[in-house]
Amino acid sequence: MSQTPLQTLRALEAAATQGRWTVPHFARPKVGCECGYIFADGQDGMGSICDIHFGDEDEPKETAAANGKLIAAMRNLAPELLDLWKAAEEARLEGERVRLPNLESPCVCPTCKAVLALNAKAQEVMA
Ligand SMILES: [Zn+2]
Ligand SMILES: [Zn+2]
Repeated sequence: MSQTPLQTLRALEAAATQGRWTVPHFARPKVGCECGYIFADGQDGMGSICDIHFGDEDEPKETAAANGKLIAAMRNLAPELLDLWKAAEEARLEGERVRLPNLESPCVCPTCKAVLALNAKAQEVMA
């Protein structure tokens, strides 16, 4: 059986640089540095994981700052978000298992709808 998107993401998360990823300096005005580097405390090399650009031909600084913050936050929350996805998917499958056959199928409760949408979108964007 092929991997589910959740399993694929788990493998990617495990293979990616571990540790907490930082928000680029330019997105943290108190730091007083305009560099766009994202680092992680679990990285092997001295270099950065990526460099967020802004200005001229790139995104406006405000948007670029949001991009850097989003990348760091989503990466740092990835393990817990994947756990939440797994728990919701298991609850959905258990619900389907015990459902009476005459009820609407699939379940349209907010949790099941959200998990189904997540599975479908993940399949699309990770194809
Ligand atoms: Zn810097
Ligand atoms: Zn449901």
